[in-house]
Amino acid sequence: MKSFPVHVSSEFPSLNKKNIFLSGDALFTFPPSFAQGASQSIETANDIFKSIFSGTNEFYQERIRSISSINNKSKLNHFTFHLSNPINIFIRNKILKYLSKNKKFLENYLGKIYRA
Ligand SMILES: Cc1cc2nc3c(=O)[nH]c(=O)nc-3n(C[C@H](O)[C@H](O)[C@H](O)COP(=O)(O)OP(=O)(O)OC[C@H]3O[C@@H](n4cnc5c(N)ncnc54)[C@H](O)[C@@H]3O)c2cc1C
Repeated sequence: MKSFPVHVSSEFPSLNKKNIFLSGDALFTFPPSFAQGASQSIETANDIFKSIFSGTNEFYQERIRSISSINNKSKLNHFTFHLSNPINIFIRNKILKYLSKNKKFLENYLGKIYRA
C-alpha cells in the first residue's frame, strides 16, 4: 500500500513585497476535483504580466478573487465526489443527472469560470 497525500491551500500566502507575484500552486493549491489548478496557473501568469505591464495590481487582485470562488466549487465537488453512503450516492447521482442537463445551472456553475 502506498499513500499519495494531496496538498491543498487553506489561505493565500502573505508577502510584504509589492514587486513579488506568486502564480500556480505557489499562490494557491486547489483540491484536484475541479481540474482547475493548471489552467488557473496559466491565467494567473497572464494577469501578472498585465499587472506588471500596466503598472497596477488590479488584474492580479481580480485573479485572487476568482481563485477564491473556484476553490469553493472545488471543495464542494470534492465533498460530493467522495460520498460513501449508498443512499447519499443515489441521491447525488439523481441530482447530478438533472443538473448536468440544466443550462441555467451549467451557465452559473461553470460559465463564469470558463469566461473569466
Ligand atoms: C491528482 C491531481 C490532478 C490534477 N488534475 C488537474 C487537471 O485535470 N486540470 C488542471 O488544470 N489541473 C490539475 N491539477 C493541478 C495542476 O497539476 C497544478 O495546479 C499545476 O501543475 C501547478 O503548476 P505549477 O507550475 O504551479 O507547479 P508544478 O507543476 O508543481 O511545478 C513546480 C515545479 O517546480 C519544481 N521544484 C520544486 N522545488 C524546486 C526547487 N527547490 N528547485 C527547482 N525546482 C523545484 C518541481 O519539481 C516542479 O516541476 C491536478 C493536481 C493533482 C495533484
